[in-house]
Amino acid sequence: MIVALVVVAAVVVLALVGAVAWREHRQFVDAEENRRRDEELHRRFEDEVAESETRLRLSLDAITQGVVMADTAGNVLYRNPYAHQYTEARHGEALVEAAVAELLAEAAQGRVVEREVELFGPPRQCLFVSAMPLRLEGKDHGSVALIDDITEPQRLDAMRRDFVANISHELRTPMGALSLLAETLAGETDPEVVSRLAARVQSEAIRLSDIMDDLLELSRIESNEASERAPVAVQHVIGDALSRIKPAAEEKEVPIQTVLPALDLVVRADRRQLTSAVFNLLDNAVKYSEATRPVRVTARLEGEWVEVEVRDQGYGIPMSHQERIFERFYQVDRSRGRTDGGVGLGLAIVRHVATNHGGEVHVESTEGEGSSFTLAVPVGAQV
Ligand code: ADP
Repeated sequence: MIVALVVVAAVVVLALVGAVAWREHRQFVDAEENRRRDEELHRRFEDEVAESETRLRLSLDAITQGVVMADTAGNVLYRNPYAHQYTEARHGEALVEAAVAELLAEAAQGRVVEREVELFGPPRQCLFVSAMPLRLEGKDHGSVALIDDITEPQRLDAMRRDFVANISHELRTPMGALSLLAETLAGETDPEVVSRLAARVQSEAIRLSDIMDDLLELSRIESNEASERAPVAVQHVIGDALSRIKPAAEEKEVPIQTVLPALDLVVRADRRQLTSAVFNLLDNAVKYSEATRPVRVTARLEGEWVEVEVRDQGYGIPMSHQERIFERFYQVDRSRGRTDGGVGLGLAIVRHVATNHGGEVHVESTEGEGSSFTLAVPVGAQV
């Protein structure tokens, strides 16, 4: 009996010990599993943080605006590559670096600040630097500075202002003349004088309308709007331009010769734009030549290019002006341009047409001997 009791007690003790050991084992296994799960979650969290940091960094690297971040003490923590170009020790870049440091320090005081920094180059550059505090829910996280290159917007703005000033100037001259002529006409009784003044009114009105036509043509070609590309034979383009220039050339007694290949030189182009370009070259050749001096138009295939050359034996263009004649409103001799009816938009139109077709326009000219303008369209555009 006693033996049986001892055995039972032993079994119970063994069972209890086993249960405790089993429970401890389970707890150990569970704790191990939890630790592994926590570690896994932590690793995943770290991966996600690293991934979003990489994404953020790549985005900051890609933007074409300088970004410089500093801690609350103003120490720089990060610069994207665009901002890096201003950290090299050249004078201009040091100027930007100094401006960035000053603005970051001011921004760390809680202010939003900005400044323009001009680098005299070359090339001349104008930068806009702004800085602001990084603050979230009342807590300071330092400051950030942004650097923008505003050279191009400033240039475009200056061009737009010049353009408006030039148009106003060009329009004011014939408008003033018209008003003066009208005033004189009102008090005039002599039929001969009246008819002379009326003729001047007409010529000023034509001049005004020519300016408006050139402006509209330039604006249409510049925006390249409604530009339709179709196969067109350069010979036909030259034919169209020749019939437009014929009256002026005959009136001025400037003969026009053509040298055209027998086979059509076909390019994919906007026929209206190309005709306008060739017409403007012919118009200048006639305008800036003395009577009887011939003008020659040549079309040819030259390596990779289909070329149209307009050569005259006119006044020629001084070397110092040749770079600028393609700018809008640029005239070598304003008084001559005015009497010949020009406003300085013709060659701007030609250059835009060339650019729109992936081509180029070149000038060769000798003062007193004549000029040669070559409009070249790449063979890639040839059909
Ligand atoms: P414009 O309306 O004055 O002719 P363009 O833009 O066509 O304007 O030409 C700009 C300037 O270039 C002209 O004012 C003229 O001085 C000069 N120019 C252009 N083509 C010729 C040429 N064939 N011969 C001499 N000068 C030229």
